[in-house]
Amino acid sequence: MTAATARPASRPTPRPGVLAIEAYVPGRSKAAPGVKLFKLSSNETPLGPSPQAIAAYHGVADKLELYPDGASTELREAIAGAYGLNPANIVCGNGSDDLLELVTHAYIGPGDEGVFTEHGFLVYRIAILAAGGTPVVVPETGFTADVDAILAAVTPRTKIVFLANPNNPTGTYLPITEVKRLHAGLPPEVLLVLDAAYAEYVRRNDYEAGIELIGASENVVMTRTFSKIHGLAALRIGWLYGPAHVVDAVNRVRGPFNVSAASIAAGVAAIGDKGFMEAAVAHNSHWLEVVTTELAALGLTVTPSVGNFVLIHLPEAAGKDAAAADEFLVSRGIVLRRVAAYGLPNALRMTIGSEEANRATIAAFAEFLGGAR
Ligand SMILES: *Cc1c(COP(=O)(O)O)cnc(C)c1O
Repeated sequence: MTAATARPASRPTPRPGVLAIEAYVPGRSKAAPGVKLFKLSSNETPLGPSPQAIAAYHGVADKLELYPDGASTELREAIAGAYGLNPANIVCGNGSDDLLELVTHAYIGPGDEGVFTEHGFLVYRIAILAAGGTPVVVPETGFTADVDAILAAVTPRTKIVFLANPNNPTGTYLPITEVKRLHAGLPPEVLLVLDAAYAEYVRRNDYEAGIELIGASENVVMTRTFSKIHGLAALRIGWLYGPAHVVDAVNRVRGPFNVSAASIAAGVAAIGDKGFMEAAVAHNSHWLEVVTTELAALGLTVTPSVGNFVLIHLPEAAGKDAAAADEFLVSRGIVLRRVAAYGLPNALRMTIGSEEANRATIAAFAEFLGGAR
């Protein structure tokens, strides 16, 4: 006669590692009631998707009974055309998170290690633990990945090194010379995963996402996304470019229809709209500089960013710290991202928004910092 709520003597137990995962907490999307919301917490574009992508999305509405092309052929061909790649070396996914998970599951199991950096993207830790592997966290230098520290952390158990380049939430990047130095120092059996979710935004002569390096080696892949520059986060579209043997492994473990028909159609249209992409980059470059300069002028420390967001460090003083700033900004309708889970307890990440959102945020920080002490 046990009560219905009592714990049974025996029940299914997740594999080791699963319950060690802290579930990913997305950026919030609610502000105080009654104020206009500026959601700058998830690195979404303020410009939305290309109108051509929206039209393509609507275009599949009368064919919803059909399974999509499980190989995402049209999308792979469109991506390959845009970047001068062989479509056979591309796999598409349900967001690049899907591909990061798949590649981890294909190469990491119990006893294996996955390496990533101190303020690196949280999905790597989750994917490694979910695969039963061991996360290895490497210190950064100046909020930037440190090649020597990463190489020092590699052991015979290391299967994957993850590098977000540029990194979220810091906005910092490694020049391609450093990425090549990292690759050169890795044993050939370790897979280097370059997560280039923000590559399109970077305007630096010494940056490359890694396409050339991948073409010339057997142990490097790159993941990309349609969620950021293309403004299609809702549709969950990502792609992986890598050597044929890695593409083959990922194709074996992925879901047979992991990209929807709507996503394929919208993705093809988005990647074809070069003018829209260029406008998105121009908007970001302009406002990234304005936001960085104006927040610094208020006395805030802003880590120089090459992405579509900035990491803002708050004063340590009580009442002026990140928690207080967040609360104040939310009362003004401005939702930024708390980044304590990334080892940054006194910082906030701000996505570059519309002119109105950016101006409102700068003004709110000025009010917050100038307010009664
Ligand atoms: C946003 C982001 C992604 C993209 O994720 P999707 O699943 O494609 O939406 C990947 N990596 C990093 C570092 C990101 O910030």
